[in-house]
Amino acid sequence: MGKVTLVGAGPGDAGLITLKGMKKLKEADVVLYDRLVGDEIIAMIPASAEKINVGKNVGNHPVPQGDINELLLKKAQQGLDVVRLKGGDPFVFGRGGEELELLAENDIDFEVVPGISSSIAGGTYAGIPVTHRDFTSSVHIITGHVKADKSLSIDYESLVKLDGTLVFMMGIANMQEICGGLIAAGMERTMPAAVVENATTFSQRKFVGDIETLPKMAKEHGVVSPAVVIVGRVCSLSEKFDWFSKKPLFGKKVVVTRAKTSASVLSEQLKELGCHAIEVPCIKIEPLTQNNAALKNALENIMDYNWLVFTSGTGADLFFDHLMEMAFDIRELHHIKIAAVGSETKKTIQKRGIFVDYTPEQYSGPELAKGLVTQLDKDEKILILRAKLGSEEILEVFAENNIAFENIAIYDTICEPGQNESVDLTDIDYVTFTSSSTVEGFVKAFPGVDPKSINGLCIGEQTAKTAQKYGIKTIVSEKATITSMIEKLKEVLCI
Ligand code: SAH
Repeated sequence: MGKVTLVGAGPGDAGLITLKGMKKLKEADVVLYDRLVGDEIIAMIPASAEKINVGKNVGNHPVPQGDINELLLKKAQQGLDVVRLKGGDPFVFGRGGEELELLAENDIDFEVVPGISSSIAGGTYAGIPVTHRDFTSSVHIITGHVKADKSLSIDYESLVKLDGTLVFMMGIANMQEICGGLIAAGMERTMPAAVVENATTFSQRKFVGDIETLPKMAKEHGVVSPAVVIVGRVCSLSEKFDWFSKKPLFGKKVVVTRAKTSASVLSEQLKELGCHAIEVPCIKIEPLTQNNAALKNALENIMDYNWLVFTSGTGADLFFDHLMEMAFDIRELHHIKIAAVGSETKKTIQKRGIFVDYTPEQYSGPELAKGLVTQLDKDEKILILRAKLGSEEILEVFAENNIAFENIAIYDTICEPGQNESVDLTDIDYVTFTSSSTVEGFVKAFPGVDPKSINGLCIGEQTAKTAQKYGIKTIVSEKATITSMIEKLKEVLCI
C-alpha cells in the first residue's frame, strides 16, 4: 500500500518550501498540485513523477474536492507514494483535513508537512509583522469567502473587541463588506489596513491605507485573488520595514537564455536582487569528448604542447571531466601553462586545483590570443579546447604570428527550441545573451517574436554583433562576466 503526504508548498517564492517538503517531493511517484503552488516549485517535481493539476479557482472548481479525495485514495491503493502539494500550509484554509478523512477511513498511511502560510508570509513580504509588542498581542486568520448561501458569517463585534491583527483570506471580492462590517462594529475608520496580492512572488503588489480607504484603493488598482487583507496597527510599519519591493531589480523581468546547466548562476543572482528571472534555455551543450580522435591524439602527444587555452568554463569542465573519465593523471600536464579567457573560466579551472597562468585584461577570445602571443616563445605549441562554433579570430591571430596550434572542438552548442511556448515576452525588460549561440538559439526558439522589439544585454562585443544582425537593441556589459552583466542591468533598470 502506498502513502499520501500533504505538503505545504508555501505562498509562492520557491525558496519557502521546507527541506522536508522538498525531500518528499523528490521521492514522489505522483504529485497532485493546486493553482496556488508556484511555477518554480512545480518545475522541481521530478520528471519521473506523474503530475496532476487539480488547480482550483474560486467559484470554479476544475476538479471537485470529492474527486481529489478519491484520486488520493486510488493512487495510494495502487501502491504509489503520493504527494499532495498545496499552496501555503495544508491546514490553513487548505482543506487538508477534508483530504485526510477518506484516507483515515481506508487505513492509508499519511503524513503532513506544514508550509509557510500566506496569512503570515503575506505580511512578512510586505514589511508587516503580524504581531509586534508595541502594537498588538494577537493575530487572527479569518476566511472572507462567502458560504454556499452567499452570506459571510463574520462576527465583527467579537473581532473588533479582540483588538488584534486580523488577516482575511479569500476576501478580495468581499473587501467592501468586510471593512464596512468592522466600521459598523465600532472599529476606528482610520485603522491601518493593507492588501497584499501575489505575496512573495515577483509580481507582488501591496496597497496600504485604512479600513475606510482600502476597498476603493484595491478596486482602483484592480487587485485580484490571491491576496490577503491585513487589518491592524502593524500595517503602519509597512513602509518602514519594507524590504522585498525595495530590492533594486524588484518588478523587473529578465530572460536568461543560457543552457540549463549554467543558467542558475545568473538567475540566482538576479532573483537575489528581486528580479523576476525567467529561465528560457535556448541552447544545450553537447559534449564532443567521446570518440574524439583529435582529442585522443592530442592527449597521447601532450608532451608536444606548451599551453592549454580555454575560452569558456564549459570547455574547461568538459576537458577535466574527460581526463578523469579516461583515468588520465593530471600530473601529465605538469609542463603545461594554462590560459583562460576571463575570470569565470579561470575560477572554473582553479576549482580543479590548477592555477591559471594567463588571463587577458579584456575578456574576449581575440584579446586572449593577442595577449598570449606576447607571452609565448616562438616554438611553443598551443592546444585550444573550445566550442565547435568558436570564432575564427583567435585562430587568425595565432596563424598571423606563426604560432603552432591545434584547435579541438570539445562541445557543441545546439539550439533548444520547443519548450518555451508558454513564455510571454510582452513585458520583458531585458533578454540576457552570454554567447552568440544564445542569440541564435533565442531567435530560433521564438520565431513569432520580432527581434527589433527586444532589448538585449550582451556579455561582449561579439555577442552584441550577432544580436545586432537580427535587429535586437543591444547594450554590452563592461566586462565579460556575470557580475558585470548584473551591474549593467542595475545601471539601466534602477532609475
Ligand atoms: N493554505 C493557504 C491558503 C489557501 S486559501 C495558505 O496557507 O496560504 C486561498 C487564499 O490564500 C487566497 O484567497 C488568498 O487569500 C491567500 N493566498 C494564498 N497565496 C497567496 C499569495 N501568494 N499572496 C496573497 N494571498 C495568498
